Amino acid sequence: MSEKVQPAQCDSTIFKSTDKNPSNILPEKLTLDSALQFECHPGVSCFTACCHNIKIILTPYDILVLRKRLKLAAHEFITQYTEPTFLEKTDMPGVQLKLAGEKNGCPFVTPDGCTVYEDRPTACRYYPIGMADFHEGGTDDAAEDKFFFIVKEDHCKGHLEPKQWTIGEWRADQGVDQRDEMNKEWLRLVMRRKSFGHQASLSDAAKRMFFMASTDLDTFRKFIFESSFLETYEVDEATIEEIREDDIKLMEFSFQYLANTLFGAGAMTIREEKLQKKVAEIKERQDNALKDAEREYLELKAERDQMVQERGGN
Ligand code: SF4
Ligand code: SF4
Repeated sequence: MSEKVQPAQCDSTIFKSTDKNPSNILPEKLTLDSALQFECHPGVSCFTACCHNIKIILTPYDILVLRKRLKLAAHEFITQYTEPTFLEKTDMPGVQLKLAGEKNGCPFVTPDGCTVYEDRPTACRYYPIGMADFHEGGTDDAAEDKFFFIVKEDHCKGHLEPKQWTIGEWRADQGVDQRDEMNKEWLRLVMRRKSFGHQASLSDAAKRMFFMASTDLDTFRKFIFESSFLETYEVDEATIEEIREDDIKLMEFSFQYLANTLFGAGAMTIREEKLQKKVAEIKERQDNALKDAEREYLELKAERDQMVQERGGN
């Protein structure tokens, strides 16, 4: 195939900044069956070159697996290894790996390679294959709306290696499919925001909630179990038990909650009694406002009547 790639609309470019230079993207739409000649191993002359001077955005699942590997609480991992950023072309706050050292490298890179290789972030797995998915957040697998493209940067000598495989084989080898599944709903939130642009405003509180739920599941769990959350939302017992212990389930639940509160999507239900209470509060506020307006009117009228009387009754 030879249609031009449109990188600005590619989902996978959200993860890593080096993918975004259009001149590095080969102008060919590829499928899972397309051939790929590429290999990366400690013998290549550029070994670890791509782990420096990069922007690697972490997804909630990336954070979860990395902090578990490092045996850190979410807030410790975030403080130690990341810095805040905005997710591409949105005002949604997220985190990227904090580069360090004279060579401005990833905190996990050593001359011998990646020290967290089995749990490396999604961005590191994608490279050098990008994916464009024109469904909102990659929720549909229709082949005609999804394609792949090769990122070919001068410093990357992996393209000179003789190994041949298909894009599908490469992705399976890198564990990209599993990451896509885990990132899908979160990416969908970011893409929704991206497609709304700044026409729809998102409050600072909503952005803070997005950041907290996306980066710190420990705090999100406290929010669920130690606030009035469960008195406000209807959540079935089985789900409550799952999210109490299981971080993946909690992460998935956080995506549902965010979709609901940020974009009014999804199936979270506010308890009837809470709704009634809210309706009663709004009605009380409206009644009070009406009473205030009525009182002000009567006061003004009384003042006016008095003035008229003082001027001789006209
Ligand atoms: S996590 Fe590993 S593969 Fe990814 S940039 Fe860091 S060192 Fe490189
Ligand atoms: S620049 Fe390319 S070949 Fe070199 S280490 Fe990175 S991915 Fe592998």
